[in-house]
Amino acid sequence: MSNLLSDRINSLPVSQTLAMAAKARELKLAGKDIISLSLGEPDFNTPDFIKDAAIEAINQNYNSYTPVDGYAELKEAICVKFKRDNNLEYQPNQIVVSTGAKQSIANIAQVLLNPGDEVLLPAPYWVSYSAIATLCEAKFVEISSSIDNDFKITPEQLQAAITPKTKMIFFNSPNNPCGSMYNEEEYRALAAVLEKHPHIYILSDEIYEHINYGTETFSFASIESMYDRTITVNGLAKAFAMTGWRIGYIGAPVWIAKACNKMQGQITSGANCIAQRAAITAVLAPISKIKYMVDEFKTRRDMVLELLGEIDGFKLNIPDGAFYVFPDISAFFGKTIKGTKINTASDFSMLLLEEANVATVTGEAFGAPACIRMSYAASVEQLKEAINRIKDVLS
Ligand code: PMP
Repeated sequence: MSNLLSDRINSLPVSQTLAMAAKARELKLAGKDIISLSLGEPDFNTPDFIKDAAIEAINQNYNSYTPVDGYAELKEAICVKFKRDNNLEYQPNQIVVSTGAKQSIANIAQVLLNPGDEVLLPAPYWVSYSAIATLCEAKFVEISSSIDNDFKITPEQLQAAITPKTKMIFFNSPNNPCGSMYNEEEYRALAAVLEKHPHIYILSDEIYEHINYGTETFSFASIESMYDRTITVNGLAKAFAMTGWRIGYIGAPVWIAKACNKMQGQITSGANCIAQRAAITAVLAPISKIKYMVDEFKTRRDMVLELLGEIDGFKLNIPDGAFYVFPDISAFFGKTIKGTKINTASDFSMLLLEEANVATVTGEAFGAPACIRMSYAASVEQLKEAINRIKDVLS
C-alpha cells in the first residue's frame, strides 16, 4: 500500500535508533537475553519532587487546554532558568513550550526552511535532524569530523560548507551521539565565521547541558552577535529523567517564537497540561537536585571507557557530556568474525546484536560510518556483562 502514501512519508527514513530497539525487542521476545545499549534514555525514575508537582496539578484540576505556547508561569520559569544557567535574557514572548524538544526542532524547521534551503549538520548528528530537514524538502549538508578531532568541526570546515543557499546550522553540544562538548573559545571561533554570513540561523540544541562532566556549558545565543539569529532548544527529557513527559522548549527571537506558536496552534494546540505544571517545578529546581544522576553517569562513563579500552580495535575518545560512548570501530572493517564479513558499522552493530546479544546503534545513522553508539544509561552490572560478551565475540 506504500504507493498510496505521500511522497513525503515514503521518502522519510525510519529512525535507526528506534529500528535497532525494535529489532532488540523482537529478539527478546524470541527468548534471547538482550542487553540494550541502543536508546537515548536515562534509566532513572523522574525525581519525586517533580512527580509530586504533577500529582498536585491533577488534584487541582488542571485539565483544560493550555495557552498554545505554554502556561505563562512556565514561560516565566524558563526565562529564569535561561538567565541562571545560560546567561541568556529572554522574555516570555520569546519562549514556546512544545511536546518534547523534538517538536521544538520540527517547529523551527517548518517555520524557517523552504524547499531547496541548505541546512548544515556537523556530523555526527542526532538522527532526527536530517529527517526533520528532509520533511521540509531542505537539503542537509554534512560537515564531517573524526575522533582524532574529538568529533568537532573547525571554523575552516564551517566556512567551506556555506553557500548562498545555507539557511541554518543545527548545532548540538553536548552532542548526541558522541558526547563531545565545544568550549567557549570553540563556539566563538565558529561564531566569527557565522558573523560573515548574516543569512544563516543557528539552532542550538542544548538538551544535554546538565549531563556534563566538568566542561563548562556555553550557549550560542550568549554571544552577542549570535543572539538575534539563534534559537536555543532545550527540554526536560534528559536532565530530569522525563523522556515520556514530553516537554521541550525554545528561547528565540520574537518573530520566530510567534511563528512556532502559530505552527503548533494548528498541529497540537500545545503541550500536556500536567507535564507543564510539573515542568515549572523542574526548571526552577537547583541543579544540585539532579546531581546524583550526573555523578552516576560519570562513574559509568569512566568504567565503560576503561573496559572498552581493553578491547583491541576500539578507538575511544573521552566524551565530556551526554551518556554515550562513540567508539571508532573501523579497525574491524574487512575482517571476518564468527563467519560474518564486517564491511560497515551496521555489519558490526548487527554482529554485536546477534552474537553478543548487545544492542548498539550504527554510526551510519548519525553521519559517522566508522563508529557505533553505545549508551551507558544502563546499570553497572548490565554494562559489565555487555562488554564482557562483546569481548568474547571479538576475541
Ligand atoms: N535533541 C537531541 C540531541 C536528543 O538526543 C533528543 C532525544 N533523543 C532530542 C533532541 C529530543 O528530545 P525530546 O525527548 O525532548 O523530544
